[in-house]
Amino acid sequence: MHSPTAKIQDVFDEPGCEINRGKDDKARKEGCSKPLTPGAAAGGCAFDGAKIVLQPITDVAHLVHAPIGCEGNSWDNRGAASSGSTLWRRSFTTDLTELDVVMGQGERKLFRAICEIKEAHAPPAIFVYSTCVTALIGDDIEAVCKRAAEKFGLPVVPINAPGFVGSKNLGNKLAGEALLDHVIGTVEPADAGPYDINVLGEFNLSGEFWLVKPLLDRLGIRVRACIPGDARYLDIASAHRARAAMLVCSTALINLARKMEERWGIPFFEGSFYGISDTSEALRQIAKLVVAKGANPDIIKRTEALIAEEEAIAWKKLVAYRPRLEGKRLLLNTGGVKSWSIVHALMEIGVEIVGTSVKKSTVEDKERIKQILKDEGHMFESMAPRELYDMLSEQKVDIMLSGGRTQFIALKAKTPWLDINQERHHPYAGYDGMVELVRQIDLAIHNPIWCQVREPAPWEYQPTVKEELPDAQSKTETAHAFAKVVTQQPPTASATLEEGR
Ligand code: SF4
Repeated sequence: MHSPTAKIQDVFDEPGCEINRGKDDKARKEGCSKPLTPGAAAGGCAFDGAKIVLQPITDVAHLVHAPIGCEGNSWDNRGAASSGSTLWRRSFTTDLTELDVVMGQGERKLFRAICEIKEAHAPPAIFVYSTCVTALIGDDIEAVCKRAAEKFGLPVVPINAPGFVGSKNLGNKLAGEALLDHVIGTVEPADAGPYDINVLGEFNLSGEFWLVKPLLDRLGIRVRACIPGDARYLDIASAHRARAAMLVCSTALINLARKMEERWGIPFFEGSFYGISDTSEALRQIAKLVVAKGANPDIIKRTEALIAEEEAIAWKKLVAYRPRLEGKRLLLNTGGVKSWSIVHALMEIGVEIVGTSVKKSTVEDKERIKQILKDEGHMFESMAPRELYDMLSEQKVDIMLSGGRTQFIALKAKTPWLDINQERHHPYAGYDGMVELVRQIDLAIHNPIWCQVREPAPWEYQPTVKEELPDAQSKTETAHAFAKVVTQQPPTASATLEEGR
């Protein structure tokens, strides 16, 4: 089996990452986070990261070579959506038992599983994931995949990112490497054209890329491959013929974007579809890059016309929310590009940004936050749950936007909360996505439940002095009435039995 060590060192040495370039050789070799201890890793492992990046490829069968827990941990943990095949949501695992490990049955079981999947589902490809247990017992998934690919005549791709090699982010990058090594460039498209682009690091959460794609369609730009959101195997296999690329989530797939530029001359830029001005800027950059690669320059003018039209529609819709949201205080506890890209539009309609987390933000992200908020005091690295609870329960915030992990702090503090991370149920990308986000904020803040839950519970109710001290006569009447009711109670079953004896 090939050790992933060389690949990991290659990923750690990423010229496209500014933080990485700022390190000395020793720090670079150590990577971005400490490797995890086998058995001590709980979720968020490299395998999990690889699965996150690859599972949204919808027509591929994703086979996890492991005891069943690994698949349970990683299955469908993002709300990505598919416009076609549902095979990606099937759970395939070799379900290795202790006996299989002791008897050395892992590779045999894996081969049989590939055969069964091929017979039952005939997918265009099977991705096979190694995990802590199967890597530690030395199962050679590359050899098994190679043999199965020859025998069954279909691509069987080894994803060598066992959990213990590092963090989820490292797993994201190792998934990108697997695509580079085994998938991208293996199919030549018959219809390559000057308006073909790739979108990298877009996961189509809650189907939000479908709010952006119609804009590209109107410009005549074809998305050859969106990796991984709503992707098909053949799209990715022919992605090397795109003329330009947009990198949406740079921390996940920067290595993929850089290497595609080096190998196939596909220029890329980093952008975001969150927020109005960012969506416009992304469209402008795409148009500029395709023109540089041979598209008709009139696309630049058409792009500006589309931006003007769409921005006007979006602002008109947003302004309608101003009277309801003006002055509302919002805490953004998410990080990354969202820490600033949606802030501008929210501020425009009068929302006050109390704070924004910069935990996962890059140096550029932080710079942009400073420019937009004009005050560094609004940025925080991370907040302890206790501190966050205090802030929310003292009602210093009208709504918190965050991921599911902190939702119960907000709910316990009786504060409106909106999921803005990967498990969210609403699409927030593009112009329409921004309007949807503001609509959801409005719905959350003005939900009548908050008035009710903030009322004291009946058992916490403090009666007024008058209520507490009825006059002597009514007190006596109440006591007599109570005694009467008690004496008129029917006998209990046990009392009846006693009497019968
Ligand atoms: S790969 Fe390792 S760390 Fe990841 S879920 Fe499986 S056992 Fe846990």
